[in-house]
Amino acid sequence: MTAVPESTPLPDLLDFAPDAAIALLQEWMADRGEPAYRATQVFGRLWQRPVDSFEAMTELPKPLREALAQSFRLSSLELATRQRSNDGTEKFLFRLHDGQFIETVAIPDGDRMTFCISSQAGCALKCAFCATGVMGFQRNLHPSEIAGQVRALRMLEPPIIPTNIVFMGMGEPLMNWKAVSPSLSLLNDARALGIGARHITISTVGILPGIIALGERPEQFRLAISIHAPSDALRKTLMPVNTKYPLAEVIEAARQFDRRVTFEYVMLGGVNDQPEHAAQLAQLARDCRAFVNLIPLHPGGSMGFTPTSAPVITAFAKALRARGVETAVRRSRGLDIAAACGQLRTERLGRRAPIASDEDREIHIA
Ligand code: SAH
Repeated sequence: MTAVPESTPLPDLLDFAPDAAIALLQEWMADRGEPAYRATQVFGRLWQRPVDSFEAMTELPKPLREALAQSFRLSSLELATRQRSNDGTEKFLFRLHDGQFIETVAIPDGDRMTFCISSQAGCALKCAFCATGVMGFQRNLHPSEIAGQVRALRMLEPPIIPTNIVFMGMGEPLMNWKAVSPSLSLLNDARALGIGARHITISTVGILPGIIALGERPEQFRLAISIHAPSDALRKTLMPVNTKYPLAEVIEAARQFDRRVTFEYVMLGGVNDQPEHAAQLAQLARDCRAFVNLIPLHPGGSMGFTPTSAPVITAFAKALRARGVETAVRRSRGLDIAAACGQLRTERLGRRAPIASDEDREIHIA
């Protein structure tokens, strides 16, 4: 391999899917006359037993660690803030190398530990009830910053190990497929993070080319679609993206997806929670055999919407089930730490006041 010129940034090993990273390392090892097993040995220290520097890979000879550090980067996410909810949910704010902030939420539930991860800094979609939408789009994240969120929590003391991943943090994952696709490989591959494909869910507003790309992957990754309104007229007012990808096309894409999809439906008081909405939504769900997840509006940064009351949510769920639609009501988690999409970053930027008492809110890291 030729030397990397001074001006070119070193390749970050965390930006490559497993096969590509291992191939790169194998080539590099071969050039140096090192045995091939060194490549998988290094790769094992990126994700499975992660360390934050080549220097810390103490099972390797020191000259080899130094040479690796001269050829490759091993980026780390800088933890800016860590908040713990009284329900055990924890929220992490990471500062990226260019000063952007992204959020990750760790949600324990029995023997499950779900990480809600971000795929973009900010978001371009401007859904009316979403705090991330308000801040606008900053930039796409790289695999080292997407899968890197899981790596960062695994490097904490004590580590937090996820059983499930949902792409329901900041951003629209299917508008960053270039980085999300290798990130899915890193999350799923047994040599990297080893999380079963059925335990990894991509949530989207319904970006059609992305849904097709996800469907073409052989693994059984799950797809959740943010529906939020059962007619184009209403959905357009809540989700501007509906103009580009109207409901009928989204439902058709869901029908053609070879796995069962989930509809996400945020319950907005007096807006989309009436009996006629349940009837319309049931029809859409039946058209593509979708499972419906009703989501109570997370009140922090709720943009003028009010949450639907619990009895009305229950009645709505009952109306869907009566029409043969499998329905679950999601429990809100992390209410005291503004754990909904975009809220921590928004708080950091001073757009809204904290909503919980200080002692259970923040553990300052930086
Ligand atoms: N862009 C993707 C993934 C990120 S948002 C998508 O829209 O699906 C993840 C989910 O959180 C979406 O269903 C989104 O509509 C929902 N969400 C955003 N703000 C919310 C809030 N204040 N309360 C409840 N859910 C919210």
